[in-house]
Amino acid sequence: MGVRRVLRDSTTMTMICQLIESGLDRGYMVEMAQRFRRFQHRVLGFPDREWEDLRALYAFHETFSVFDQRRDWLSKESQRLEKIWIEEANSDQERSDALHAYEEIWNEKHEDLHVFMDACCDFREIAAGFYRRPIFRAMLSTQSMPNWHMSAWLRSRCAESGGCCARNCGCCSKDREGGGLPPLAVAHCTPACSCCLEHLGFDKPIGPLEYSLENISFDVRGKEAGSFGAKMLNAFVWNLER
Ligand SMILES: [Zn+2]
Ligand SMILES: [Zn+2]
Ligand SMILES: [Zn+2]
Repeated sequence: MGVRRVLRDSTTMTMICQLIESGLDRGYMVEMAQRFRRFQHRVLGFPDREWEDLRALYAFHETFSVFDQRRDWLSKESQRLEKIWIEEANSDQERSDALHAYEEIWNEKHEDLHVFMDACCDFREIAAGFYRRPIFRAMLSTQSMPNWHMSAWLRSRCAESGGCCARNCGCCSKDREGGGLPPLAVAHCTPACSCCLEHLGFDKPIGPLEYSLENISFDVRGKEAGSFGAKMLNAFVWNLER
């Protein structure tokens, strides 16, 4: 068994490192605490299985973002159909069509919730091991900052793919559904963003909701400086200038 592995899996070592980190955090040396976590990560190494955990966390974030933005669109659509069905329909046929479409929307909401709950189960399992690894503590630290997701790179990525950061609506910096989302759940536009759909003249988001590790096809290790994986690591985990 290698020395690195022994140190990495030592509970005492983890506790000492966490004590140093929280001392730095309490002293408002958040950047120093992140640098110390990155140092541990580089020195102790990271087992393959846990890179897969990081891939699952990216997949979870993507699923949550699409879920939240689809929920926003589905709610608006069900309100529109309900109005037609109850008040505005001019014929029985129109009323029955609106009711049928309304039921479909409810089925979609229900199916989305199932997929989302499956993703949550996975997330809970991974989160249980969070504190053993400096990379996950760094991720929690970064994502506990308000507006952590509004970094220049994430905003430009959203704008380049035609998201709301390319316009003045400000959707990415506000709470989309008004439900007081936790900082971990905030996100840029996905193909389910109702504002983007309206802007593009589409009347339906992508669907159904998916949770799959295969959706995360880039190299999550970000070994090469400047690679997509390295930029994702910095945006979601380290939040360091260099
Ligand atoms: Zn958008
Ligand atoms: Zn917008
Ligand atoms: Zn955006």
